Amino acid sequence: METKTISKLGGDGKMSSYTYDEYKRIVKEFHGSLAPGLLIGGFMVDLALKNLPGGQFFDAIAETKTCLPDAIQLLTPCTIGNGWLRVMNFSRFAITLYEKEKGEGVRVYIDTKKIEAWPEVRDWFFKVKPKKEQNYQLLLDQIADAGAGLCSMKKVRVRPELTGFHAHGSKIAICPSCGEAFKIKNGDKCPACSGENPYVD
Ligand SMILES: [Zn+2]
Repeated sequence: METKTISKLGGDGKMSSYTYDEYKRIVKEFHGSLAPGLLIGGFMVDLALKNLPGGQFFDAIAETKTCLPDAIQLLTPCTIGNGWLRVMNFSRFAITLYEKEKGEGVRVYIDTKKIEAWPEVRDWFFKVKPKKEQNYQLLLDQIADAGAGLCSMKKVRVRPELTGFHAHGSKIAICPSCGEAFKIKNGDKCPACSGENPYVD
């Protein structure tokens, strides 16, 4: 097996890379386990980083909330907290990195044709077998061998309303019901007091 590396984009805009073993160690530390989806996600981010259009500042989209947001947060300066990573919960195993201003970017996704060449990965991905019947080691081996070979990539342009260094002009108000501050969108009460409260009583 060739030695694979995983690219990383630093906050200073500089590219560096991890060996695949280093990446696995970081995954385990951060995520708690060697999640197959996060290992594949590393190769997906790597492929996207190697094919970025010109530009200095990038934002990211993860089209699932599973695993891929962590791969993006481990390998790029984009995090949910800094607002550069947007999680769109489509349950599609895909990521996009795009240049902030013009929205030009690359989308990397699991290619359901290519995955056929890697049966253990395919069965895991399509949840064909119960977890007990999966051969975890074979799954990890096939992921390591396949790398970005499980994926395809295409150029995309992100819709203008999602791009730019958007200066939010939104107003902050105090909710008349709970007394906490929140960003006004609809109505004068905060979303929690408008019926989305996640807590019992
Ligand atoms: Zn409230």
